[in-house]
Amino acid sequence: MQLTDAEIREILLRQKQRKKLQQKRKRRRALFFLLLMLIILAIVILKPAVLISEKNEKQARKTEREASYTGPPRGTVFIDPGHGGMDSGTGDEFGRYEKEDNLKLALQLKNDLEAMGFTVGMSRTEDKQVDRTLRGQMANDAGAQLFISLHRNQADTDGMGVEAFIPKRNDNNSRLLANNILNALAKQGFEKRSIKSGTLNDPNSDYEELAVVTMPATLVEVGFVSSDMDNALFDDNLSNNAKAIANAIDQTFMTLYEPEKAAQAAEEQAYRDKLVKDILYQTMKAISGLIPAHSKETEFPG
Ligand SMILES: [Zn+2]
Repeated sequence: MQLTDAEIREILLRQKQRKKLQQKRKRRRALFFLLLMLIILAIVILKPAVLISEKNEKQARKTEREASYTGPPRGTVFIDPGHGGMDSGTGDEFGRYEKEDNLKLALQLKNDLEAMGFTVGMSRTEDKQVDRTLRGQMANDAGAQLFISLHRNQADTDGMGVEAFIPKRNDNNSRLLANNILNALAKQGFEKRSIKSGTLNDPNSDYEELAVVTMPATLVEVGFVSSDMDNALFDDNLSNNAKAIANAIDQTFMTLYEPEKAAQAAEEQAYRDKLVKDILYQTMKAISGLIPAHSKETEFPG
């Protein structure tokens, strides 16, 4: 069979058209994949960006609150800087005294807690001797809701890290307070040691101040004076250590005395989680919406 010139021209024209369509389809496919990659890229970038902006906002709110707390008074926390006066506590041969470390940390902690809205009672704000039982009684008299005694540790061997003591009554609330503080300090680089009820060698006796206090209480050993590593963590990071302890106290106080506030904090966290999930869901929906549109377009008779 012989094709006429017109038929040949027709076939050539069709071939040309088909080629054009194929090219167009290819371009569309490339465009679609480019778009898909952009969306995936956007998710990857957007998710941390949302988290970062949330974090900044939180930080800004926190700084604002710290600068001037205007809310209602929240309650009383009692801080006991261990030792003082003639009683230096432990120390080293380079003139470091435990009593000074305890007071330095306690004064910063006091400021941080006051900025959070707490009334802060102190057993001493200067270098003077105070009877240990009296320290506990002072906390009771102040109507304190939490008691924190600050100390530093000492070992002949190479001991290091933070540990805590709670009253021998071994109540859950004291343990929660101690655990939150040790966890916060561990995040600052200290090794986390144990929480003991009673004294170092006797679970059935109490350190004098812990024997008399009626509220949740702990005595925290903030690292070893005999460890260079712990001293560096203590000195170089003093204000962060104080903030970490303040946050742990804040968190414990909310759990024990401000259930509605703790619930609100949990709700805010859930809202942030949902926001991120929603963005992801909407993006995935947008992607899946693109796919049928694309396959329809490419169903061209060819
Ligand atoms: Zn001590």
